[in-house]
Amino acid sequence: MYESDIDGTFNFSPAEMQKHSRAFLKIQDGCNNMCSYCKIPLARGPSRSRSLDDILTNIDKLQQNGYEEIILTGINLGTWRYESQGLPYLINTILKQTGNLRLRIGSIEPPYITDAFLQSIASDRVCNHFHIPLQSGSNKILQLMNRTYTTEQYQSCIDSIRRVKQDPFISSDLIIGFPGSTKKTFQETVQLVEKTRFSFIHLFSFSPRKGTKAADMDGKVPERVTRQRMKIMAELVEKQNLEYKKRYIGTTLKTIIEKTNEKMVTGRTDNYLEVLLTPDPSLVSRKTRLVTVTDMNDSRLFGKLIGQ
Ligand code: SF4
Repeated sequence: MYESDIDGTFNFSPAEMQKHSRAFLKIQDGCNNMCSYCKIPLARGPSRSRSLDDILTNIDKLQQNGYEEIILTGINLGTWRYESQGLPYLINTILKQTGNLRLRIGSIEPPYITDAFLQSIASDRVCNHFHIPLQSGSNKILQLMNRTYTTEQYQSCIDSIRRVKQDPFISSDLIIGFPGSTKKTFQETVQLVEKTRFSFIHLFSFSPRKGTKAADMDGKVPERVTRQRMKIMAELVEKQNLEYKKRYIGTTLKTIIEKTNEKMVTGRTDNYLEVLLTPDPSLVSRKTRLVTVTDMNDSRLFGKLIGQ
């Protein structure tokens, strides 16, 4: 995680969620890692978990409020613990106790893509969408960032997810212009992104955070160079995003209806595609419908309602 998810508190009331079309359930806060660019551990403290009972109670209330999909979120989700159990146990328990609920897993760090995790996501009730932060495609930069994996391990995580899920939406985060980055480390990152074929990447240009190790690192990258690299990477990301979307034109997907108004309805597919639909009285926010993706215009997908 770079800068997103700093907002929001641990206290969560399902009632507050009634105005939203999506139900985010924060199950974990804080982080024990010390990525050299990140101030979250300083601001949020060590990892702590919401209790299993509390999670199940909240899920029950959300279901009573009509949600058919819940998104599990946290600062470092993979560190969720209950007694000696971890996230795979939680996913299995939720699936067992919640009928048809669809579960979406928020951002998860590469070291938590374990065999047990892979088994837990194999169910088709776990959304075909995974956000695995990469941050850099260079081992030299990953080390400077104090990340806890290599590019080879990262690639192996993605491969293992692709063995248990069919063409998942894989998204990631990249920091461009980290101190010490060179033409070579950027090229390595481009190559890894090309090889991995992401569905989307959030790009951040490096900006020093007071009190972090990276703020005082040598090897600052000139802004002009960072801007050029951001542009090159943004074009590659857009190309991969369009390729992923295009593959789904003509397919029928389970879709949760999100926003509805007189002009347009938006739905979110299992594999995280936003589909625009023509308004119809039967399209009710939070409900699952079958939608065929019919067309793409200006990178936006359009669909037509098929049934329940
Ligand atoms: S894993 Fe690293 S980037 Fe993410 S919250 Fe923890 S310290 Fe920050």
